[in-house]
Amino acid sequence: MAEEERPEKEYPAEEQGIEPEETEEEKRLDMEEGEKEEEVYSEEGREALVEDDEIEPWEEGFMEGAEGPGQQGKCRECGAALLKKEDTVEKEIDGEVCFFCSNKCLEKYEQEH
Ligand SMILES: [Zn+2]
Repeated sequence: MAEEERPEKEYPAEEQGIEPEETEEEKRLDMEEGEKEEEVYSEEGREALVEDDEIEPWEEGFMEGAEGPGQQGKCRECGAALLKKEDTVEKEIDGEVCFFCSNKCLEKYEQEH
């Protein structure tokens, strides 16, 4: 019954002349380090997924068009970032659609141009 559970210490001859490259403890430490690395990687992966989910489709379009003044994403008058679509004032001027952060900026722009 207890034969299979005999501790290895009862067989010192097996260990004599054999130098193990790694002790059991070292092997365990290696495994723990490996697990920690995996945890970090999966956490980063999860964060990246959350970040992707936080971007609404229209926000992506907003950011893509955020280059240069007057384009969707920036106020044509003051250059402020247009973060909320519902707060953005859209106006076609000289056949070009312009975006403003407020009606104030739209009026100012129309007066100046
Ligand atoms: Zn503005």
